[in-house]
Amino acid sequence: MDYKKYVKIVKDWPKEGIEFKDITPLMDNGAAYKAAIDEIVTYARSKKIDIVVGPEARGFIIGCPVSYALEVGFAPVRKEGKLPREVIKVDYGLEYGENILTIHKDAIKPGQRVLITDDLLATGGTIEATIKLVEALGGIVVGCAFLIELSYLKGLQKLDGYDVLTLMSY
Ligand code: 5GP
Repeated sequence: MDYKKYVKIVKDWPKEGIEFKDITPLMDNGAAYKAAIDEIVTYARSKKIDIVVGPEARGFIIGCPVSYALEVGFAPVRKEGKLPREVIKVDYGLEYGENILTIHKDAIKPGQRVLITDDLLATGGTIEATIKLVEALGGIVVGCAFLIELSYLKGLQKLDGYDVLTLMSY
């Protein structure tokens, strides 16, 4: 499927100089959203995953339907102060800004095979931080799946040694 026709490019948002890739038109279209999720489900099935992990908020949009389809759990990675129980945390840099991400300490059991999902790979900071959280809990990152990779930001370089699926590249 030509997913790109469902991605709208928004100039200078949320800051000047950023060309934001808006995936909401893809989510609006049932057939396109399902086709994208189905591709990730097929990939995840081949990796024999135990659990899906995704950073807020758009990582949930991709990860939750995948975990539902595979009947495995989903563990949310959230910004500091959002998860109610004991967490571990990590600092990271964004394409635009700085952040702290957290995960519940008991979200992943040591040795679990983890798929990480997000809508888009930009500089790779978010996914690198998410990998750190998963690995700190003893999870094994067996795959990372994104709708979009911004190749000009070279995020894939941060994922050297990890298996990555992307459905679109800009
Ligand atoms: P990174 O940490 O790889 O630099 O940035 C990726 C994160 O920022 C993802 O969680 C993603 O949701 C968000 N992000 C950055 N740029 C864009 C964009 O152009 N479109 C969308 N949809 N998300 C973006």
